Amino acid sequence: MKKTTGMDRKVTQKWRPATQAVRGGTWRSDHGETSEAMFLTSGYSYDDAQTVADRFAGEAEGMTYSRLQNPTVAMLEERIALIEGAESCRAQASGMAAMTAALLCQLSTGDHCVSARAAFGSCRWLVDNLLPRFGIETTVIDSADNAAWEAAIRPNTRVFFFETPANPTLDIVDLQFVCDLARARGITTVVDNAFATPVLQRPMEFGADVVAYSATKMMDGQGRVLAGAICSSKRWIDEVLMPFQRNTGPALSAFNAWVVLKGLETLDLRAHRQSANAVALGRFMEKRIDAAGGHMLHPGLSSHPRHKLAMQQMDATGPIFAFDVGTRERAFALLDALELIDISNNIGDAKTLMCHPASTTHANMGDEARGEMGVTDGLIRINVGLEDIADLTEDMDRALAAAGI
Ligand SMILES: *Cc1c(COP(=O)(O)O)cnc(C)c1O
Repeated sequence: MKKTTGMDRKVTQKWRPATQAVRGGTWRSDHGETSEAMFLTSGYSYDDAQTVADRFAGEAEGMTYSRLQNPTVAMLEERIALIEGAESCRAQASGMAAMTAALLCQLSTGDHCVSARAAFGSCRWLVDNLLPRFGIETTVIDSADNAAWEAAIRPNTRVFFFETPANPTLDIVDLQFVCDLARARGITTVVDNAFATPVLQRPMEFGADVVAYSATKMMDGQGRVLAGAICSSKRWIDEVLMPFQRNTGPALSAFNAWVVLKGLETLDLRAHRQSANAVALGRFMEKRIDAAGGHMLHPGLSSHPRHKLAMQQMDATGPIFAFDVGTRERAFALLDALELIDISNNIGDAKTLMCHPASTTHANMGDEARGEMGVTDGLIRINVGLEDIADLTEDMDRALAAAGI
Protein backbone atom coordinates (compact mmCIF):
# COMPACT_ATOMS: atom_id res chain seq x y z
CA MET A 1 0.00 0.00 0.00
CA LYS A 2 1.33 3.38 -0.96
CA LYS A 3 0.35 6.15 1.39
CA THR A 4 0.45 8.53 -1.51
CA THR A 5 -2.36 10.93 -0.94
CA GLY A 6 -3.82 11.05 2.49
CA MET A 7 -1.91 9.27 5.21
CA ASP A 8 1.02 11.65 5.48
CA ARG A 9 -0.40 14.14 7.92
CA LYS A 10 2.47 16.58 7.37
CA VAL A 11 1.20 17.06 3.84
CA THR A 12 -2.53 16.74 4.37
CA GLN A 13 -3.26 18.35 7.71
CA LYS A 14 -3.34 21.85 6.21
CA TRP A 15 -6.16 20.93 3.84
CA ARG A 16 -9.55 22.38 4.63
CA PRO A 17 -12.49 20.13 5.59
CA ALA A 18 -14.05 20.06 2.09
CA THR A 19 -10.75 18.83 0.67
CA GLN A 20 -10.29 16.29 3.46
CA ALA A 21 -13.75 14.92 2.69
CA VAL A 22 -12.65 14.11 -0.87
CA ARG A 23 -9.03 13.05 -0.32
CA GLY A 24 -8.18 12.68 3.36
CA GLY A 25 -6.96 9.24 4.39
CA THR A 26 -6.69 7.77 0.89
CA TRP A 27 -4.20 4.91 0.58
CA ARG A 28 -3.26 3.67 -2.85
CA SER A 29 -2.06 0.20 -3.74
CA ASP A 30 0.69 -0.33 -6.33
CA HIS A 31 -2.01 -0.13 -9.01
CA GLY A 32 -2.51 3.58 -8.28
CA GLU A 33 -6.30 3.30 -8.34
CA THR A 34 -8.03 6.70 -8.06
CA SER A 35 -11.07 5.41 -6.16
CA GLU A 36 -10.41 3.85 -2.77
CA ALA A 37 -10.12 0.05 -2.87
CA MET A 38 -12.47 -2.22 -0.96
CA PHE A 39 -10.62 -4.83 1.11
CA LEU A 40 -13.13 -7.56 1.89
CA THR A 41 -10.89 -9.62 4.13
CA SER A 42 -11.24 -10.66 7.74
CA GLY A 43 -7.65 -11.87 8.16
CA TYR A 44 -4.09 -11.17 7.01
CA SER A 45 -1.07 -13.37 6.22
CA TYR A 46 2.54 -12.67 7.12
CA ASP A 47 5.92 -13.23 5.48
CA ASP A 48 7.37 -14.80 8.61
CA ALA A 49 6.48 -15.70 12.17
CA GLN A 50 8.43 -12.83 13.73
CA THR A 51 6.41 -10.24 11.78
CA VAL A 52 3.14 -11.41 13.23
CA ALA A 53 4.65 -11.74 16.70
CA ASP A 54 5.85 -8.13 16.50
CA ARG A 55 2.42 -6.93 15.36
CA PHE A 56 0.63 -8.75 18.18
CA ALA A 57 3.13 -7.27 20.62
CA GLY A 58 2.33 -3.81 19.29
CA GLU A 59 5.95 -3.35 18.27
CA ALA A 60 5.36 -3.24 14.51
CA GLU A 61 2.72 -1.51 12.43
CA GLY A 62 0.40 -3.63 10.34
CA MET A 63 -2.97 -5.34 10.33
CA THR A 64 -3.77 -8.55 12.20
CA TYR A 65 -7.54 -9.05 12.07
CA SER A 66 -10.41 -6.96 10.71
CA ARG A 67 -12.13 -6.60 14.08
CA LEU A 68 -9.08 -4.46 14.91
CA GLN A 69 -7.91 -2.99 11.60
CA ASN A 70 -8.86 -3.12 7.92
CA PRO A 71 -7.35 -0.99 5.14
CA THR A 72 -10.69 0.32 3.82
CA VAL A 73 -11.99 1.02 7.32
CA ALA A 74 -8.66 2.71 8.19
CA MET A 75 -9.08 5.06 5.22
CA LEU A 76 -12.53 6.04 6.49
CA GLU A 77 -11.26 6.54 10.05
CA GLU A 78 -8.42 8.76 8.90
CA ARG A 79 -10.72 10.75 6.60
CA ILE A 80 -13.29 11.42 9.33
CA ALA A 81 -10.54 12.40 11.79
CA LEU A 82 -9.10 14.86 9.25
CA ILE A 83 -12.48 16.47 8.49
CA GLU A 84 -13.21 16.69 12.22
CA GLY A 85 -9.78 18.03 13.13
CA ALA A 86 -9.44 15.14 15.62
CA GLU A 87 -6.24 13.27 16.46
CA SER A 88 -7.91 9.91 16.03
CA CYS A 89 -11.11 8.18 14.96
CA ARG A 90 -12.51 4.64 15.18
CA ALA A 91 -15.30 3.51 12.88
CA GLN A 92 -18.23 1.63 14.38
CA ALA A 93 -20.84 -0.79 13.01
CA SER A 94 -23.66 1.75 13.48
CA GLY A 95 -24.42 5.01 15.22
CA MET A 96 -25.80 3.15 18.23
CA ALA A 97 -22.70 0.96 18.38
CA ALA A 98 -20.73 4.24 18.55
CA MET A 99 -22.88 5.77 21.32
CA THR A 100 -22.87 2.54 23.36
CA ALA A 101 -19.10 2.13 23.06
CA ALA A 102 -18.41 5.82 23.81
CA LEU A 103 -20.32 5.52 27.11
CA LEU A 104 -19.57 1.96 28.27
CA CYS A 105 -15.85 2.16 27.53
CA GLN A 106 -15.41 4.83 30.22
CA LEU A 107 -18.24 4.46 32.76
CA SER A 108 -18.21 2.05 35.72
CA THR A 109 -20.51 1.18 38.61
CA GLY A 110 -20.82 4.19 40.91
CA ASP A 111 -20.19 6.76 38.18
CA HIS A 112 -22.73 9.42 37.20
CA CYS A 113 -23.68 10.60 33.70
CA VAL A 114 -25.63 13.78 32.88
CA SER A 115 -27.57 13.59 29.64
CA ALA A 116 -29.79 15.84 27.55
CA ARG A 117 -33.47 14.89 27.74
CA ALA A 118 -34.01 15.62 24.02
CA ALA A 119 -32.21 12.79 22.25
CA PHE A 120 -32.50 10.08 19.66
CA GLY A 121 -34.82 7.38 21.10
CA SER A 122 -32.12 4.71 21.47
CA CYS A 123 -29.70 7.20 23.06
CA ARG A 124 -32.36 7.87 25.70
CA TRP A 125 -32.78 4.11 26.15
CA LEU A 126 -29.06 3.77 26.91
CA VAL A 127 -29.29 6.48 29.54
CA ASP A 128 -32.67 5.50 31.02
CA ASN A 129 -32.33 1.69 30.90
CA LEU A 130 -28.89 0.30 30.08
CA LEU A 131 -26.55 2.40 32.24
CA PRO A 132 -28.65 2.05 35.44
CA ARG A 133 -28.57 -1.76 35.04
CA PHE A 134 -24.84 -1.58 35.68
CA GLY A 135 -25.10 0.77 38.65
CA ILE A 136 -24.27 3.90 36.66
CA GLU A 137 -26.39 6.80 37.87
CA THR A 138 -27.94 9.10 35.26
CA THR A 139 -29.60 12.52 35.37
CA VAL A 140 -31.60 13.80 32.42
CA ILE A 141 -31.85 17.58 32.02
CA ASP A 142 -33.16 20.30 29.70
CA SER A 143 -29.97 20.72 27.68
CA ALA A 144 -30.93 24.24 26.54
CA ASP A 145 -30.77 25.42 30.17
CA ASN A 146 -27.14 26.22 31.01
CA ALA A 147 -27.82 26.35 34.75
CA ALA A 148 -29.29 22.84 34.65
CA TRP A 149 -25.94 21.39 33.53
CA GLU A 150 -24.15 22.95 36.48
CA ALA A 151 -26.88 21.98 38.97
CA ALA A 152 -26.76 18.32 37.86
CA ILE A 153 -23.06 17.84 38.63
CA ARG A 154 -22.23 15.49 41.51
CA PRO A 155 -18.84 14.49 42.92
CA ASN A 156 -19.01 11.26 40.84
CA THR A 157 -20.10 12.87 37.53
CA ARG A 158 -17.85 11.48 34.82
CA VAL A 159 -19.66 12.19 31.53
CA PHE A 160 -21.89 14.79 29.84
CA PHE A 161 -23.74 13.20 26.90
CA PHE A 162 -25.82 15.25 24.43
CA GLU A 163 -26.84 15.97 20.85
CA THR A 164 -27.00 19.40 19.24
CA PRO A 165 -29.18 20.01 17.29
CA ALA A 166 -31.16 17.30 19.10
CA ASN A 167 -33.49 14.71 17.64
CA PRO A 168 -36.34 15.44 17.07
CA THR A 169 -37.05 18.76 18.82
CA LEU A 170 -33.98 20.61 17.48
CA ASP A 171 -32.84 21.80 20.93
CA ILE A 172 -29.51 23.61 20.67
CA VAL A 173 -26.85 23.09 23.37
CA ASP A 174 -24.45 25.94 24.15
CA LEU A 175 -21.26 24.09 23.19
CA GLN A 176 -18.81 26.62 24.59
CA PHE A 177 -20.57 26.86 27.96
CA VAL A 178 -21.10 23.14 28.47
CA CYS A 179 -17.60 22.12 27.29
CA ASP A 180 -15.95 24.80 29.49
CA LEU A 181 -17.98 23.67 32.50
CA ALA A 182 -17.09 20.02 31.89
CA ARG A 183 -13.40 20.77 31.47
CA ALA A 184 -13.30 22.84 34.69
CA ARG A 185 -14.84 19.90 36.62
CA GLY A 186 -12.85 17.10 34.98
CA ILE A 187 -15.92 15.71 33.20
CA THR A 188 -15.67 14.10 29.74
CA THR A 189 -18.06 15.52 27.11
CA VAL A 190 -19.51 13.08 24.55
CA VAL A 191 -21.28 14.93 21.74
CA ASP A 192 -23.54 13.07 19.27
CA ASN A 193 -22.93 15.26 16.19
CA ALA A 194 -24.99 13.21 13.71
CA PHE A 195 -27.40 16.01 12.73
CA ALA A 196 -24.74 18.63 12.01
CA THR A 197 -21.82 16.59 10.62
CA PRO A 198 -18.26 17.91 10.97
CA VAL A 199 -18.86 20.09 7.89
CA LEU A 200 -21.42 22.23 9.72
CA GLN A 201 -20.23 21.99 13.34
CA ARG A 202 -16.97 20.88 14.97
CA PRO A 203 -17.60 20.46 18.72
CA MET A 204 -13.88 19.93 19.44
CA GLU A 205 -13.26 23.58 18.51
CA PHE A 206 -15.36 24.38 21.60
CA GLY A 207 -13.47 21.91 23.77
CA ALA A 208 -15.54 18.71 23.39
CA ASP A 209 -13.56 15.58 24.29
CA VAL A 210 -15.38 12.91 22.28
CA VAL A 211 -17.50 13.38 19.14
CA ALA A 212 -19.62 10.42 18.05
CA TYR A 213 -21.53 9.87 14.81
CA SER A 214 -24.20 7.90 13.18
CA ALA A 215 -22.49 7.84 9.76
CA THR A 216 -25.69 6.20 8.49
CA LYS A 217 -27.13 9.68 8.20
CA MET A 218 -25.38 12.61 6.46
CA MET A 219 -22.01 10.90 6.00
CA ASP A 220 -23.40 8.12 3.81
CA GLY A 221 -25.99 10.64 2.69
CA GLN A 222 -27.87 8.35 0.35
CA GLY A 223 -29.59 5.99 2.76
CA ARG A 224 -27.57 2.88 1.92
CA VAL A 225 -25.63 1.51 4.88
CA LEU A 226 -25.40 1.62 8.66
CA ALA A 227 -22.17 3.02 10.07
CA GLY A 228 -20.81 4.98 13.01
CA ALA A 229 -17.66 6.69 14.23
CA ILE A 230 -16.01 8.02 17.39
CA CYS A 231 -13.43 10.84 17.28
CA SER A 232 -11.20 11.94 20.15
CA SER A 233 -7.59 12.43 21.21
CA LYS A 234 -5.17 9.65 20.30
CA ARG A 235 -4.69 8.89 23.98
CA TRP A 236 -8.42 8.52 24.68
CA ILE A 237 -9.01 6.34 21.61
CA ASP A 238 -6.00 4.11 22.32
CA GLU A 239 -6.29 3.83 26.10
CA VAL A 240 -10.00 4.25 26.88
CA LEU A 241 -11.94 3.15 23.79
CA MET A 242 -9.72 0.48 22.25
CA PRO A 243 -9.64 -2.04 25.14
CA PHE A 244 -13.46 -2.02 24.96
CA GLN A 245 -13.70 -1.98 21.18
CA ARG A 246 -11.17 -4.70 20.38
CA ASN A 247 -12.83 -7.15 22.76
CA THR A 248 -16.52 -6.37 22.24
CA GLY A 249 -16.39 -6.11 18.44
CA PRO A 250 -18.60 -3.26 17.15
CA ALA A 251 -16.35 -3.14 14.05
CA LEU A 252 -17.56 -1.65 10.76
CA SER A 253 -17.60 -3.85 7.65
CA ALA A 254 -15.19 -2.90 4.86
CA PHE A 255 -18.06 -2.69 2.39
CA ASN A 256 -19.99 -0.21 4.53
CA ALA A 257 -16.80 1.78 5.14
CA TRP A 258 -16.25 2.03 1.40
CA VAL A 259 -19.81 3.29 0.81
CA VAL A 260 -19.36 5.97 3.49
CA LEU A 261 -15.96 6.98 2.02
CA LYS A 262 -17.75 7.65 -1.27
CA GLY A 263 -20.51 9.51 0.58
CA LEU A 264 -18.00 11.79 2.31
CA GLU A 265 -16.74 13.05 -1.06
CA THR A 266 -20.02 14.95 -1.53
CA LEU A 267 -20.73 15.72 2.15
CA ASP A 268 -19.80 19.40 1.99
CA LEU A 269 -21.99 20.05 -1.07
CA ARG A 270 -24.92 18.09 0.31
CA ALA A 271 -24.78 19.56 3.82
CA HIS A 272 -24.86 23.13 2.52
CA ARG A 273 -27.48 22.57 -0.18
CA GLN A 274 -29.75 20.58 2.14
CA SER A 275 -29.38 23.28 4.82
CA ALA A 276 -30.36 25.97 2.28
CA ASN A 277 -33.36 23.90 1.13
CA ALA A 278 -34.39 23.36 4.76
CA VAL A 279 -34.33 27.11 5.47
CA ALA A 280 -36.28 27.88 2.28
CA LEU A 281 -38.93 25.26 3.02
CA GLY A 282 -39.18 26.40 6.65
CA ARG A 283 -39.71 30.02 5.59
CA PHE A 284 -42.40 28.92 3.12
CA MET A 285 -44.33 27.07 5.85
CA GLU A 286 -43.85 29.14 8.97
CA LYS A 287 -46.73 31.65 8.69
CA ARG A 288 -49.25 28.95 7.83
CA ILE A 289 -48.15 26.70 10.69
CA ASP A 290 -48.34 29.63 13.14
CA ALA A 291 -51.74 30.75 11.80
CA ALA A 292 -53.09 27.21 12.35
CA GLY A 293 -51.99 27.32 16.01
CA GLY A 294 -48.92 25.14 15.51
CA HIS A 295 -45.26 26.07 15.67
CA MET A 296 -41.95 25.51 13.95
CA LEU A 297 -38.85 24.00 15.60
CA HIS A 298 -36.22 25.16 13.13
CA PRO A 299 -32.77 26.39 14.26
CA GLY A 300 -32.32 28.17 10.91
CA LEU A 301 -35.32 30.47 11.51
CA SER A 302 -35.26 33.50 13.80
CA SER A 303 -38.31 32.13 15.69
CA HIS A 304 -36.11 29.40 17.25
CA PRO A 305 -35.20 30.42 20.84
CA ARG A 306 -31.53 29.65 20.20
CA HIS A 307 -31.31 30.73 16.54
CA LYS A 308 -28.46 33.18 17.22
CA LEU A 309 -26.44 30.59 19.12
CA ALA A 310 -27.03 28.02 16.35
CA MET A 311 -25.73 30.50 13.77
CA GLN A 312 -22.66 31.18 15.94
CA GLN A 313 -21.62 27.60 16.51
CA MET A 314 -22.70 26.10 13.16
CA ASP A 315 -21.73 26.97 9.58
CA ALA A 316 -25.33 26.20 8.51
CA THR A 317 -28.19 24.64 10.45
CA GLY A 318 -28.52 21.32 8.63
CA PRO A 319 -31.22 19.42 6.76
CA ILE A 320 -33.55 18.60 9.65
CA PHE A 321 -36.34 20.54 11.31
CA ALA A 322 -39.66 19.77 12.96
CA PHE A 323 -43.06 21.38 13.28
CA ASP A 324 -46.09 20.85 15.44
CA VAL A 325 -49.51 20.76 13.78
CA GLY A 326 -51.50 20.19 17.00
CA THR A 327 -52.94 16.68 16.69
CA ARG A 328 -52.02 13.20 15.49
CA GLU A 329 -54.99 13.28 13.06
CA ARG A 330 -53.67 16.40 11.37
CA ALA A 331 -50.12 15.06 11.29
CA PHE A 332 -51.27 11.81 9.67
CA ALA A 333 -53.51 13.69 7.17
CA LEU A 334 -50.51 15.81 6.16
CA LEU A 335 -48.20 12.81 5.77
CA ASP A 336 -50.79 10.82 3.82
CA ALA A 337 -51.29 13.68 1.31
CA LEU A 338 -47.59 13.78 0.28
CA GLU A 339 -46.83 12.87 -3.33
CA LEU A 340 -43.10 13.53 -3.62
CA ILE A 341 -41.79 13.50 -0.06
CA ASP A 342 -41.57 10.00 1.45
CA ILE A 343 -42.93 8.95 4.81
CA SER A 344 -39.74 7.56 6.31
CA ASN A 345 -38.06 7.63 9.69
CA ASN A 346 -34.54 7.89 8.26
CA ILE A 347 -32.64 11.18 8.06
CA GLY A 348 -29.54 12.54 6.33
CA ASP A 349 -30.69 11.14 2.98
CA ALA A 350 -30.57 13.08 -0.31
CA LYS A 351 -34.30 12.32 -0.53
CA THR A 352 -36.72 14.43 1.49
CA LEU A 353 -38.27 12.26 4.22
CA MET A 354 -40.88 12.97 6.87
CA CYS A 355 -42.00 11.08 9.94
CA HIS A 356 -44.18 11.26 13.02
CA PRO A 357 -41.71 10.70 15.90
CA ALA A 358 -44.34 9.97 18.60
CA SER A 359 -45.51 6.83 16.74
CA THR A 360 -42.14 5.79 15.28
CA THR A 361 -38.63 6.82 16.43
CA HIS A 362 -39.80 7.84 19.92
CA ALA A 363 -42.69 5.36 20.30
CA ASN A 364 -40.97 2.93 22.66
CA MET A 365 -40.30 5.45 25.40
CA GLY A 366 -42.92 6.17 28.04
CA ASP A 367 -45.58 8.88 27.57
CA GLU A 368 -44.00 10.87 30.40
CA ALA A 369 -40.49 10.93 28.89
CA ARG A 370 -41.96 11.75 25.49
CA GLY A 371 -44.00 14.62 26.94
CA GLU A 372 -41.08 16.08 28.87
CA MET A 373 -38.95 15.85 25.72
CA GLY A 374 -41.56 17.79 23.73
CA VAL A 375 -42.39 14.94 21.35
CA THR A 376 -46.08 15.81 21.04
CA ASP A 377 -48.73 13.94 19.04
CA GLY A 378 -48.79 16.73 16.45
CA LEU A 379 -45.01 16.78 15.90
CA ILE A 380 -43.61 16.01 12.44
CA ARG A 381 -39.89 15.78 11.67
CA ILE A 382 -38.55 16.43 8.20
CA ASN A 383 -35.20 15.69 6.57
CA VAL A 384 -34.91 18.05 3.62
CA GLY A 385 -33.07 16.52 0.66
CA LEU A 386 -31.58 17.67 -2.61
CA GLU A 387 -34.69 17.87 -4.78
CA ASP A 388 -35.64 21.15 -6.48
CA ILE A 389 -37.00 23.45 -3.79
CA ALA A 390 -39.96 24.40 -6.05
CA ASP A 391 -41.09 20.75 -6.15
CA LEU A 392 -40.69 20.44 -2.38
CA THR A 393 -42.73 23.57 -1.65
CA GLU A 394 -45.48 22.43 -4.05
CA ASP A 395 -45.71 19.07 -2.30
CA MET A 396 -45.71 20.71 1.15
CA ASP A 397 -48.32 23.26 0.00
CA ARG A 398 -50.69 20.46 -1.03
CA ALA A 399 -50.06 18.42 2.12
CA LEU A 400 -50.62 21.41 4.42
CA ALA A 401 -53.89 22.17 2.64
CA ALA A 402 -55.01 18.54 2.99
CA ALA A 403 -54.46 18.83 6.75
CA GLY A 404 -56.51 22.05 6.87
CA ILE A 405 -53.44 24.26 7.42
C1 LIG B 1 -29.69 7.78 13.80
C2 LIG B 1 -29.11 8.37 15.00
C3 LIG B 1 -28.39 7.57 15.91
C4 LIG B 1 -28.24 6.09 15.73
O1 LIG B 1 -27.54 5.75 14.57
P1 LIG B 1 -27.69 4.35 13.79
O2 LIG B 1 -26.69 4.45 12.71
O3 LIG B 1 -29.12 4.27 13.32
O4 LIG B 1 -27.41 3.26 14.77
C5 LIG B 1 -27.84 8.19 17.01
N1 LIG B 1 -27.97 9.52 17.22
C6 LIG B 1 -28.66 10.31 16.37
C7 LIG B 1 -28.76 11.76 16.65
C8 LIG B 1 -29.23 9.77 15.23
O5 LIG B 1 -29.92 10.55 14.39
